[in-house]
Amino acid sequence: MSTVSIPTTLSEQVVAAIRSVVGAGPAVLHEPSFSGNEWLYLKECLDSTVVSSVGKFVDRFEAGLAAFTGAKHAVAVVNGTAALHIALKLAGVRTSDEVLVPALTFVATANAVTYCGATPHFVDSEARTLGVDAEKLRDYLASHTEQRAGQCVNRATGRIIRALVPMHTFGHPVDLEGLLVVAHDFKLALVEDAAESLGSYFRGQHTGTFGLMGTLSFNGNKTITTGGGGAILTNDAELACHAKHLTTTAKVPHAWDYRHDEIGYNYRLPNLNAALGCAQLEQLPSMLVAKRELFQRYHAAFSPVMGARLMAEPEQCHSNYWLQALLLEPKCADQRDAILQATNDAGFMTRPVWILMNELKPFVSCPHMDLAAAQSLSQRLINIPSSSSLVPVAP
Ligand SMILES: *Cc1c(COP(=O)(O)O)cnc(C)c1O
Repeated sequence: MSTVSIPTTLSEQVVAAIRSVVGAGPAVLHEPSFSGNEWLYLKECLDSTVVSSVGKFVDRFEAGLAAFTGAKHAVAVVNGTAALHIALKLAGVRTSDEVLVPALTFVATANAVTYCGATPHFVDSEARTLGVDAEKLRDYLASHTEQRAGQCVNRATGRIIRALVPMHTFGHPVDLEGLLVVAHDFKLALVEDAAESLGSYFRGQHTGTFGLMGTLSFNGNKTITTGGGGAILTNDAELACHAKHLTTTAKVPHAWDYRHDEIGYNYRLPNLNAALGCAQLEQLPSMLVAKRELFQRYHAAFSPVMGARLMAEPEQCHSNYWLQALLLEPKCADQRDAILQATNDAGFMTRPVWILMNELKPFVSCPHMDLAAAQSLSQRLINIPSSSSLVPVAP
């Protein structure tokens, strides 16, 4: 920065605040870090020649995930989208059902619903959590659905609304207390899309362990990565067993027979990816400390900036701070693109939040409630560089 320039516009202030935290840059939005036993476990895996389907790293990774999250069972799969697909299938979602999903989410949440032959039904979010607004959803369901034989039926379409899939946006836990009651009262299966929230807690309990099932993602941009990967969390032993069966081609265990007793999927996580996962899981606690420290530094840097505020964890929640997000005040929403331009020009990778699902071509004709809050949020959110490596933490 030249000595004469005192940041005046909001764009300049945002660039200056980011620079004061992460240095001169450039800085990408989120990069993985491999500073533990990654090479060691990958070599061990390669040397063993057991790189594919089953293997000890898969078992270890699943046990590690269950221990970390407090879920009774974790089933590792090939990615987070596949985890959602199977979780929804096991929740009883079938052709001609509807499933409630936030309009403000990554496309995988809605895609997984369609893989079951069902239709996503988009619901609004609240600014406090960036997740599904439980109060508003309750009012909407009360006036637009009816209970028939213990099932929630959409009066407008006549279809059964089978499940509700809240998502913990950028790692900030959604109002699980409110949503569990809504799910109970309207007879909906609750499946949490916890792809972004490994290491996030609602009242001390890990996200993804409240509903019937929860799903995680270990894509390259998530808090920890297996290259590609995901997992299904559940406390129900039978569901866990069935999830494992369905994701491993539904093969009945036998020394030589290839007997498959239902249509299964080749969704298992390869042992090679699980080896990476085992090493990453060891690093997770220190990454979470680094991400929280990054939040504190950004928080201090942005507090004097008028018009933009850094998203903080909701009350009674502990967020993993996967992606740091700025929320512009409504009156500054028209400056979003200028901020995106200025930050990217300065070498700091930033991006807006996803386009709302109901605006995407494959979903334009899907049912949705009033989405005023999600629409406003989608115009005002900007993600800023969030890698744990931006804050080196002593091991
Ligand atoms: C990352 C992500 C997923 C799963 O993505 P995969 O790339 O399939 O692992 C699902 N939902 C949300 C909200 C995500 O951010």
